[in-house]
Amino acid sequence: MRRVSILGATGSVGQNTIDLIARAPQDYDVVALTGGHNISQLAADAKLINAEIAVTAYDERLEDLRAALAGTDIKVAAGQAALSEAGARPADWLMSAIVGASGLAPGLAALEQGATLALANKESLVCAGALVLETAARHGGRLLPVDSEHSAVFQALTGEDIETVERIIITASGGAFRDWPIEALKTATLAEASSHPNWDMGQRITIDSASMFNKALELIETKEYFGVSSDQIEVIVHPESLIHALVGHTDGAIMAHLGPPDMRHAIGYALHWPKRRELPVSRLDLAQIANLSFKAPDDARYPALRLARDVMQRGGLSGAVFNAAKERSLDAFIAGRIGFLDMAAIVEEVLNRFEAQTGLIDAAITLDNVMQTDHLAREWADSIMVNRAG
Ligand code: NAD
Ligand code: MG
Repeated sequence: MRRVSILGATGSVGQNTIDLIARAPQDYDVVALTGGHNISQLAADAKLINAEIAVTAYDERLEDLRAALAGTDIKVAAGQAALSEAGARPADWLMSAIVGASGLAPGLAALEQGATLALANKESLVCAGALVLETAARHGGRLLPVDSEHSAVFQALTGEDIETVERIIITASGGAFRDWPIEALKTATLAEASSHPNWDMGQRITIDSASMFNKALELIETKEYFGVSSDQIEVIVHPESLIHALVGHTDGAIMAHLGPPDMRHAIGYALHWPKRRELPVSRLDLAQIANLSFKAPDDARYPALRLARDVMQRGGLSGAVFNAAKERSLDAFIAGRIGFLDMAAIVEEVLNRFEAQTGLIDAAITLDNVMQTDHLAREWADSIMVNRAG
């Protein structure tokens, strides 16, 4: 029996993870499930797969969770510290599927206990890549990528020597607005940005796909995880979303990874690694697909990619700044306070302000420094938004 926990169990990746685990309950002892405001989902899942403890991120929801699990022997807890404690509870394998920088501390707690951490929470690597990798190395923890592109690169690299890798190409669907006239993006609505052409995902990552902030985070994630340089990583728009990534070697060969756009593939690969097991995903019918198409990403349409390249050059805490400014401007777009194109403009202004703060640029990447920088960047984003509105 493998002891497993799911951080962010009630989200899109979390639910796909539960789907796989619930198909083979005899193989798993479920330790902790964490969620947010969706208490009924969290409680139902905790009962379904018989978790030891269910944790909500929000203190004020503890009594609701307790009530929802009354009459069971499932423990309950709430708050940020309880999330990290969930990560620290002894387990062999944990899924990190919280959205945003809040996923960093619980993920680090999991690595500190020497467990295998399946990482969907790309923000951890963007904000604190060096810290995450060091923590895994120091405690004998293992980090497995779950983002579909990074799982694809990881699989394409099996048996290969990273030294012969010339380039890593990650694909992008192009998101909801790939065929829109650029002028129309200014007035794009929340509902329009929240529908993805190929993937069924959480709302935040879906909007980030329309703006390519998701791909921007993934560029940084690729650099951190695989240790390649910024100029070795390319993005290609591939509207069919069937090739997830390609790895090019010095002999000119390119290894591509194909599969249906279903996160249960990448989650299942990380769950069963280093073995492969049968997974309930559809099989590609190449004759029916007939054509795969590609297009270079348009920098004018997707300024987030240029900003990510700047961040990769700057290094240090700039990833934490980039992510926090992105999260804050995404909050404002979701709340209807700013337009779609304002998000990239605000992130760029926050990065420029960071550039001017010499003291911060060289600060060490510790959890404290990352969280302080995250707070500061959110404040800067807020004040920039207030100034723009006035
Ligand atoms: P989601 O919004 O569907 O779910 C997020 C989960 O995190 C929920 O369980 C929610 O309760 C929890 N959460 C939200 N805010 C929290 C906070 N402040 N503290 C603690 N928990 C909190 O998100 P998702 O689409 O499943 O994405 C999860 C992560 O996986 C993200 O980092 C995303 O970029 C990454 N990812 C998702 C997909 C996908 O298919 N959805 C694909 C690749 C990578
Ligand atoms: Mg991805």
